[in-house]
Amino acid sequence: MNTKWVEFAKQIKEHYKKDFVPLHEPTFNTKELEYVTDCIETGWVSSVGAYVTRFEEELARFTGVKRAVAVMNGTAALHIALMVAGVQANEEIFMPALTFIATANAASYLGAVPHFVDVSEKTLGLDPQKLEAHIIKIGEVIGNQLINKETGRVIRAVVPMHTFGHPVELEELQLVCEKYHLALVEDAAESLGSYYKGKHTGSFGKVSALSFNGNKIITTGGGGAILTDDDELANYAKHITTTAKVPHLWEFDHDEIGFNYRLPNINAALGCAQLEKMPEFIDQKRLLTAFYEELIGPLEGVRLFKEPEHTTSNYWLQTLILDGHLERDEVLTFLNENGVMSRPIWSPMHKLKPYAQLPKADLSATERLNQKIVNIPSTPIREV
Ligand SMILES: *Cc1c(COP(=O)(O)O)cnc(C)c1O
Repeated sequence: MNTKWVEFAKQIKEHYKKDFVPLHEPTFNTKELEYVTDCIETGWVSSVGAYVTRFEEELARFTGVKRAVAVMNGTAALHIALMVAGVQANEEIFMPALTFIATANAASYLGAVPHFVDVSEKTLGLDPQKLEAHIIKIGEVIGNQLINKETGRVIRAVVPMHTFGHPVELEELQLVCEKYHLALVEDAAESLGSYYKGKHTGSFGKVSALSFNGNKIITTGGGGAILTDDDELANYAKHITTTAKVPHLWEFDHDEIGFNYRLPNINAALGCAQLEKMPEFIDQKRLLTAFYEELIGPLEGVRLFKEPEHTTSNYWLQTLILDGHLERDEVLTFLNENGVMSRPIWSPMHKLKPYAQLPKADLSATERLNQKIVNIPSTPIREV
């Protein structure tokens, strides 16, 4: 790595005024303290309380969907989103091979089978054209179901994921879903505050999932939410995530095997405070993108990934794309050794032990991109 890279690392540390710059840190101030203190002073810290309802209402308003159901993490949100979308055991689910393992795990919890498809280098997410070409190759529509001719299983849903906050081509995907009788379930865990043609990600799917883990654009400590425009699905999601208890003043009546997935009030309080700052976070993220764009100017063989056409990205994680001669691991080693925390993109799902033997399409873009991506520090810079 040459002196230009030494200067690059130095400038990042100066920008953040730190000798070691983490990849992504939560940003808090007095608002979080005020709401969390309120929970502690009133004793409403656990599974019931006003902040949960308030957080759900504010999330629905922010994302433009009818209903949001808060749960304890994004993986639980995905699990329930797939469940209420109608996914059953032994059915296949199309998803990108280039994602965090939670997407595949959520399908597996239902006994469903992930079926990995390739991503687009334009969006870093599911490629609608490649998906349709793969469907034509392996699928057959019988009645109103898509069948995988090779495995005999029903293919039920498509789960796109908006990588690092950058929306996939949602309209094109919706068309593929309609044509082949597939439910669209968005893994919007990384894309709170990201829009496709002016409409919030997570509002295109039949059901979608958000995450508020500690490294996400806003955090509740741990948390997630299910989004949908369908009241019936939302009510069922709420019911099944709260032990399927039938409301009653004192009776313990549960009408099916539910989950204890609810978000505690104290976490929802944190979420309410964080959500108020979203506009400011987004502004800061976009300023950071402009800062990095200038900073990488002198570097060769690398570019900054920018939001795809027709989208407004939350730029959750800033992304370097190495074009050619630079070895990814050399860049990662250099930056991490020089006080700038950086990470590769996840290992593709079909390379992981639990998912190595599953149905998959040609994954050449996934494998190419895997060796070209380096995420660099992305915490919004100013005190907000
Ligand atoms: C963060 C994340 C999730 C959910 O993660 P939790 O840690 O369970 O909240 C799911 N999918 C993707 C792509 C994610 O980045």
